[in-house]
Amino acid sequence: MPSRLDRSAAWPYDSAGEPGAFTYARDEHPNGLAVEKAIGALEGGHALLYPAGMGAVTGVVLTMLPPEGTIAVAAGAYYGHSQLLELLRPRGVNTVEFDQTGPPPGDADLILIEAPSNPMLTMPDFEAAAAHPAPVICDATLSSPLRLRPLELGCDVSLHSATKVLAGHDDLIAGLATVRDPALHTRLFELRKLSGLVASPDTAWLVARGLETLEVRLERMETTAKALYDRIAAHEAVTTARYPGFGFVISFDVADGAAARRVETATETIVNATSLGSTHTKLESRYRWEGERCPEGLLRLSVGLESAETLWSDLEQALATV
Ligand code: PLP
Repeated sequence: MPSRLDRSAAWPYDSAGEPGAFTYARDEHPNGLAVEKAIGALEGGHALLYPAGMGAVTGVVLTMLPPEGTIAVAAGAYYGHSQLLELLRPRGVNTVEFDQTGPPPGDADLILIEAPSNPMLTMPDFEAAAAHPAPVICDATLSSPLRLRPLELGCDVSLHSATKVLAGHDDLIAGLATVRDPALHTRLFELRKLSGLVASPDTAWLVARGLETLEVRLERMETTAKALYDRIAAHEAVTTARYPGFGFVISFDVADGAAARRVETATETIVNATSLGSTHTKLESRYRWEGERCPEGLLRLSVGLESAETLWSDLEQALATV
């Protein structure tokens, strides 16, 4: 049963004037806590809900990176992370990119890997990352905790844009960070509380509802993605196709930027829009956002709940425009 939505900003003290389980919603609220318990159980740690995936990474980096420290970020990973870190550079945040299929640079104070990376779909070398003395954050948005549990692979923080498959319906923005260490959880909690990086009860309620169907959505999306990948990879208009072997995101390249634009605008069922992990299949050229960070002809396909046959016939007619 979905939990009751409680929009209270504050709760009364008890008859002795003492705070109860909840005091002020910027600290914690019942709907947020319900999501944190569910994700904490899936990940094997203590979760914190944020108002965006970017809110989660902001909270984690500001808490864990020492002043003038260097964060090593996986190349080819979500470009928003690199943009954020660049924005923080004048505040003493130094960033280096590295190939996450190998070891992180020796002088890093914090490591940010992504499993798999969006949109290049590489997987990190978890052993090499865990062997590094610096703490490791793993963005596992494209996997979900049902396919990958970074805390069990030696990472200190598991990060998610809950906007994507966790919530799954393109109707909210939210993020999650989960840690094992109670002291780190307390530090993250304090920063979240005092910075106001807090998701609303309405958002939390919707995330909780999305989690109820996560397993069936993911299974269906993944089965369809596997069926589509082979056909995409074999298509004559496709020069490179990427799929990590699990999950719902495929990326593939066509000849150039103009060809990618033709394909993405020719689909009929598949929506030409950004984001991923929702019930509706989406296709977009990433070059429009990322420029030289990815091939000009790269298209990212986020597979939704439509049938494989419906999606393939749409893709086939769109690829015929190349
Ligand atoms: N991490 C990954 C892998 C993403 O794809 C995104 C957004 O696309 C984010 C983090 C940021 O999440 P949000 O848009 O919820 O802030």
